[in-house]
Amino acid sequence: MQSLLDNIYQEVFPMLGQGKVADYIPALACVEPRQFGIAICDNEGNVFTVGDADVPFSIQSISKVFNLVLAMNHYGEGLWDRVGCEPSGLPFNSLVQLEYENGIPRNPFINAGALVISDMNQSRFASPHLAVRDFVRRLSGNPEINADRIVADSEFEHRARNAATAYLMKAFNNFENEVEDVLHSYFYNCALEMSCADLARGASFLANRGYSQCGEEQILSPKQTSQVNALLATSGMYNEAGSFAFQVGLPGKSGVGGGIIAMVPGRFSICVFSPALNHMGNSALGVAALTSLTKHIKWSVY
Ligand code: GLN
Repeated sequence: MQSLLDNIYQEVFPMLGQGKVADYIPALACVEPRQFGIAICDNEGNVFTVGDADVPFSIQSISKVFNLVLAMNHYGEGLWDRVGCEPSGLPFNSLVQLEYENGIPRNPFINAGALVISDMNQSRFASPHLAVRDFVRRLSGNPEINADRIVADSEFEHRARNAATAYLMKAFNNFENEVEDVLHSYFYNCALEMSCADLARGASFLANRGYSQCGEEQILSPKQTSQVNALLATSGMYNEAGSFAFQVGLPGKSGVGGGIIAMVPGRFSICVFSPALNHMGNSALGVAALTSLTKHIKWSVY
């Protein structure tokens, strides 16, 4: 496993310098772009790392996965009345479909969908912004995980589009709580800082039929785990989901902080981090590293 990681790292490292860090969130614009790390957590709980795998970074939309899993733990099938399971084929923060489709977001991994899920968690937890943080602490076995307040505040200050999305859903009666309160929790979760090693461990239950080695507990049923992976495979990479499936062939989730988690079901979870993004908003080196991974292991879910 270690030599697999070393090979991928060597192969992709020369690309460092390609892409651009996200600058629509001002606090993220100053992140050093020349960082690159990978971690794998296998289904026995062993972790392998290379490069900047222990550097904490802003997980951004990767939090949407943990947000969803937490809600799935507390709401039954009824969750799917408020959010769909179809790919959107549009940018993550697009509003156009939402108007046509009566305020029901296409899936939980676009912003609209994650905001509905955050609204559900807001109704369920006494300290909703801490619920996801405590959940990822438990899943990754790292009690030090916290949000970067500067990033969370910066996102709140530039909240117009996410606020518009949430208010549109409220107009369609698909949003229970105060929009600003839910936005605070949502941005806090996006601003959580985790390393590749934390995220590989934290997502390992998705490669292991819902069982987390770290907490030694069943997080989701095997069926729910397959459902989350199916959604990740079709919608986890926004409007690059199709070519990611074509090229890489694994369920994965990216964030504008430059992280991507991906699962090789039955074997291991992997997290790649490199902050410079391609034109679709996914980590340029991250996509290249995962392409190299499936080339080396000669395996995809398809
Ligand atoms: N916090 C970001 C937003 O809401 C998350 C987007 C992302 O990582 N794609 O715009």
